This record gives sequence, C-alpha cells and structure tokens, in this order.
Amino acid sequence: MWKKNILETIGNTPMVQLNQLVSHLPATVLAKIETFNPGNSIKDRMALKMIENAEKDGLLKPGGTIIEGTSGNTGMGLAMAAIIKGYKCIFTTTDKQSKEKVDVLRALGAEVIVCPTDVDPEDPRSYYSVSSRLENETPNSWKPNQYDNPSNPQAHYETTGPEIFEQTGGKITHLVVGVGTGGAISGIGKYLKNKNPNIKIWGVDTYGSVFKKYKETGLFDKDEIYPYVTEGIGEDFLPANVDFTIIDHFEKVTDKDAALMTREISRKEGIFVGNSSGAVMAGLMQMSDSLTQNDLVVAIFHDHGSRYLGKMFNDDWMRMKGYLNEEV
Ligand code: PMP
Repeated sequence: MWKKNILETIGNTPMVQLNQLVSHLPATVLAKIETFNPGNSIKDRMALKMIENAEKDGLLKPGGTIIEGTSGNTGMGLAMAAIIKGYKCIFTTTDKQSKEKVDVLRALGAEVIVCPTDVDPEDPRSYYSVSSRLENETPNSWKPNQYDNPSNPQAHYETTGPEIFEQTGGKITHLVVGVGTGGAISGIGKYLKNKNPNIKIWGVDTYGSVFKKYKETGLFDKDEIYPYVTEGIGEDFLPANVDFTIIDHFEKVTDKDAALMTREISRKEGIFVGNSSGAVMAGLMQMSDSLTQNDLVVAIFHDHGSRYLGKMFNDDWMRMKGYLNEEV
C-alpha cells in the first residue's frame, strides 16, 4: 500500500551489521542507519513529533511560521513537514556548518540566516539569540527549541528505542550515540534502560564541548569550550534534553579522528554516512577494551555523507585541515 505523504515514510530504518571496519573488535557491532529517513537523518523523527505536539497544544496554528536554530538536519525534517502541513520556515544556523546543509534547507523553501559560530550563546549575534529575536518579531510564529522540547526525546522513546530493541531481539548490550541536543541518547536510552537496566548507554562528545566533564565532575567548565570542527555533536551549554542520569559514559573524539573515521565507514562498509557517525565509530574503537565477545553494540548513524562532500569527503579540505598525510 502506498504512503499518503512523505512524512509517513519516517522511521523503521534498517539495522545493519558492520564487518570489515570492526573486525578487530571482540563484540558484534550493528549500525542503525538513520539516513533511510526521507530527510536522510534521524532528526526527521523528532521534527515531526515537535510539530504534531505543538499543533495539539495550540502553539502552532494554521499558516504559522516555524523559527529554529538548527545545524541543518532538524531544519530538513521541519522544512519537509512544513511543506506537507502548510507552514513557513525560517532557520538560523552557524557559519561552520557544511554549505550542503544550508543549500538543502533552501531547496526545501526555507529562509536560512547564517550566524557566526565563534560567539557566546547569549551574544545577540548567536544563532540561538537571532532565532529568539525573530520569534518575537514574527506574528503567528513558533520556535520548537529542540534543546529543551520534550517532544524531541519522546520521538526516540516512542520509535527509535523500540525499533532497536526489536531489531536486536532484545539482546543489545551497548548503545553508542553522538550527543547534541541529547534527544536521541536520552529517548532511546530511557526506553532501553526501562527494558533492561544493564544496557550500557555511551555518549560520544567532542573536544571543545562541556558534556564529558559535566557528567564526570558535575562542573560546567567554561574552559572546556572552544571552537571545533566536528558537526552535530557537543555543546557549549547544557541542553535540558541531555538526561545525564541515563548516560553511563561520555567518550571524547578528536576532530581528526572523527573525520578520518567518517571516510573509513564508507570505504570499509559501503555505508555513506556523515561526520557524527565517524565520531561514534571512533569513540567505540577507543572503548574497545571494555567490550567482550558476548556484547551486541548498536551505533547510531545519524545522517548522510552527501552533507559532507565539501568537507570530510573532500581531499583538499582534509589536507588543508592537516588530517591527511600526503601519500593518502
Ligand atoms: N549527529 C548529527 C549529524 C546531528 O545533526 C545531531 C543533532 N544535532 C546529532 C548527531 C546529535 O543528536 P541529538 O541532537 O539527538 O543529541
């Protein structure tokens, strides 16, 4: 039977075993390939849920404008849903995001405002502040605020979590996820821990982000914050949607290791995915001593490689960053 519109194709993504890339690890490693969502990322799930709940709560009204600060993937999901449901979209993003992500938002009819990365979240030029200002100035507008909107983890609690549990026959022992807003790790992690509290939930963080230090010491350390290259994960503040109580461990990955691993996934597995998938696999490799042959690990592959053609999949860019040796 056919789907009534593109939104009905969100979710039920495949789980695929990794082989060559993880042949040196004792555990079985599976990837939940979220690029099969129509917007090519996991964020379609929560974008639709945020809109549906806002409609129910009367926050988003017919003909309204959706305004959000997004690194691209949430925007893609929101823009798609907005087309089907008749809303306008204005997005603010940062100048460090791949050009492809901005282009794709514009291709879906959204207005995109690019803001500087290298300013505090409270700075009036930041992409958080600009989106809040636009929300105040635009009549009949609604800001989903994916960082503290409970619909974000709820989407993963209701769909991604159960899918993972079923696709592994309940045998999953470890979940490894890149953490940005925290929606994915908190929603999936809560579902899995409810099913089996022994399942380990590992978050992957970047150098330049506050998560790992906060988890381990309870301190929000501003000295941990500096600009980094890895896209989609790590933050310079603590989003309400990161549920630190269900995360067992954060592993930090360098920009270089994440970038190189992003390329390895496509070359060794034929799975063309983005930068945070590389970070997740690099983080998992760093944790290999904690794994046994009885373990069944699920890694989340958040988004598609096409969004990084100008960066991690571009040899000139990789050389410019000093990530490639000349002979590669
Ligand atoms: N990877 C990518 C590519 C993303 O766009 C995001 C969202 N910022 C994440 C990982 C992190 O997911 P979440 O926001 O659910 O923590």
